[in-house]
Amino acid sequence: MTQRVLIAAELSNLLEPSQLAGLDVTWLAAGEPTPKGDFVAIVPLLSRWVGGTELKNLPNLRIVANVAVGYNNIDLVAAEMRGVLVTNTPNVLTEATADLTWALILATARRLAEGIDLVRSGRWTGWHPEQLLGMELRGRTLGLLGAGRIGQAVGKRAPAFGLRVIYAARTQKPEFEQLVGATRVDLKQLLADSDILSLHVPVTPETKGIINADALALMKRSAILINTSRGDLIREGPLAVALEEGLLGAAGLDVYADEPTIPPRLLAAPRTVLLPHIGSATEETRRKMAGIAVSNVQAVLSGKPPLTPVYS
Ligand code: NAP
Repeated sequence: MTQRVLIAAELSNLLEPSQLAGLDVTWLAAGEPTPKGDFVAIVPLLSRWVGGTELKNLPNLRIVANVAVGYNNIDLVAAEMRGVLVTNTPNVLTEATADLTWALILATARRLAEGIDLVRSGRWTGWHPEQLLGMELRGRTLGLLGAGRIGQAVGKRAPAFGLRVIYAARTQKPEFEQLVGATRVDLKQLLADSDILSLHVPVTPETKGIINADALALMKRSAILINTSRGDLIREGPLAVALEEGLLGAAGLDVYADEPTIPPRLLAAPRTVLLPHIGSATEETRRKMAGIAVSNVQAVLSGKPPLTPVYS
């Protein structure tokens, strides 16, 4: 018997027909509201909110298989109360996202965006000893807020660039410390000591807005802020002001609080490298993310436990 499932239409090219065997798929277009109906599974992108109303409109739903490791687009309490499973796509995107984090670190430290703009503008007049001077990485300190899968993968790349690693986390990571010589510090020290601060915690009530005006004021004036986690971690208004006033060195961002809207003041701020949420955007990783989400659906619909549950 085929089972009716909703899958984000943007995933259609990333999935093989064999992965969809036995499923009666309704492809859900980007701007289309989540429909009502007897669907037993939904595979949403992180841009789709799945809350109490959506869950109420899908009374037969058994699983929300999110195509992301983060799941702040799903009302977990509402899902759990209705007995709906929630899954995410951890691990497969760790290395791709860590690579993109390093792309942002290098791009901000060495002022790539300004260099590209200068060349394209036709105003480049040739080599100059003081042109676009950036930050030398060797000997500096990389601070990680959150040392889970992606935070650690970013940290593991740091010794190759001669960076010392410090991190703030809820729990000690002895193996990580041993491997990269990292030191655990509290949030205040992390903010004060980091030459580059990279965010890798999820958005929770505790971490939302954690990089606010007060936190920014504790950072070095030359520091670089990198965010490939979630936009809600940063108060974007105070960040724009800090960049405008030279109170922060640079910012490399892949994620924003209200995507795809970016506050005009942040868009116009100096020393930024702004990317369109492409942390996990490699061919291999995006196929694996889509594949895991659908495998979670197939497992649950055939009575097996999900592969990557958010809660058990
Ligand atoms: P993860 O393995 O769960 O790591 C998150 C870490 O954050 C955990 O180690 C956890 O600490 C720590 N943490 C949670 N709350 C904290 C707090 N208040 N203070 C300090 N540490 C705290 O997740 P991941 O796979 O690394 O993913 C991290 C984030 O990256 C996700 O939330 C996701 O939204 C984002 N992401 C973005 C992209 C993109 O496209 N830009 C791609 C992939 C992922 P403990 O270990 O102590 O529990």
